[in-house]
Amino acid sequence: MATPIKDVILKENAPTTILFDKHVEFLREYGKNEDNFEFGMTDYLRISGMYWGLTALELLNQTHSTPQDEIVTYIKNCQDPESGGIGACLGHDPHLLHTLSAVQILAMYDKLDAIDVEGVIRYVVALQQPDGSFTGDKWGEVDTRFSLCAVATLSLLKRLDAINAEGAVRFVESCMNFDGGFGSRPLSESHAGLVYCCLGFLSIMNRLDIVKRDVLAWWLCERQLPSGGLNGRPEKLPDVCYSWWVLSSLTLLGRLHWISAEQLKRFILACQDTETGGFADRPGDVPDPYHSLFALAALSLLGQHEIKTINPTYCMPQHVIDRMQLSPQILRD
Ligand SMILES: [Zn+2]
Repeated sequence: MATPIKDVILKENAPTTILFDKHVEFLREYGKNEDNFEFGMTDYLRISGMYWGLTALELLNQTHSTPQDEIVTYIKNCQDPESGGIGACLGHDPHLLHTLSAVQILAMYDKLDAIDVEGVIRYVVALQQPDGSFTGDKWGEVDTRFSLCAVATLSLLKRLDAINAEGAVRFVESCMNFDGGFGSRPLSESHAGLVYCCLGFLSIMNRLDIVKRDVLAWWLCERQLPSGGLNGRPEKLPDVCYSWWVLSSLTLLGRLHWISAEQLKRFILACQDTETGGFADRPGDVPDPYHSLFALAALSLLGQHEIKTINPTYCMPQHVIDRMQLSPQILRD
């Protein structure tokens, strides 16, 4: 007997349009209250959390409503003068994930000179291992996520030349599996989030030529479930953030049209919270800025015109990438 497919059922009365104003309110209010239990619990996510919220607001054309100067000063104070890396919040050890988020926010504001740029470069370079891979911080494990973080950070700072590029590409290539997908390390199972990380990395390095294009695009399309939602790997429930990881990957492969866009859009819109605004991982769950950003970014890739255009490689507004004169590789027919 075949195992039943894990999926969710969308309700009849699920929202079918973007609750624009509610999302703006949700994103602006989230985490404002420092006494908020949730805010304390997510302290370690602070700078990345800011990147999710601010990018989502920018996609909704609301950047003017964010306290830019305050945010820039805060980021500046999170930079560790010794290593050059940036931590999640004041007093926290630096980490590559937050260093990238900080650089993305400053790039969006056109304020990269607010931090010690040479320090950031020094930090990223020091995390590269002899086999070309990267760790997330000085104690951390190797993961292909960090290969993307490293080259995204350096390319936004126009200093890709600072690392061993050939070794970095060789490592990511060694994480490619028979199904065309990528895992976190060599011989690790393929996972849609890591597929995005590796394709984003290869797009920045202009080396998308090494992927098994159609085998991988097919694997990505198989992530779509009857509800229209996408999962990260076989036998898992759909989650709205995979709309981004899978769609950005298909976009980089020039195969976005292989997915059923209408069904996916229906699933994404059903993940909105009609009362508070914001998107949750699945319909009926609690919304948060992380899933809100990736839902809006996916809708942008699907051509939703009320949302600003997102860049599939950097997950940043396209106009910022254009202003910086970056042109990451995308495969086209
Ligand atoms: Zn998720």
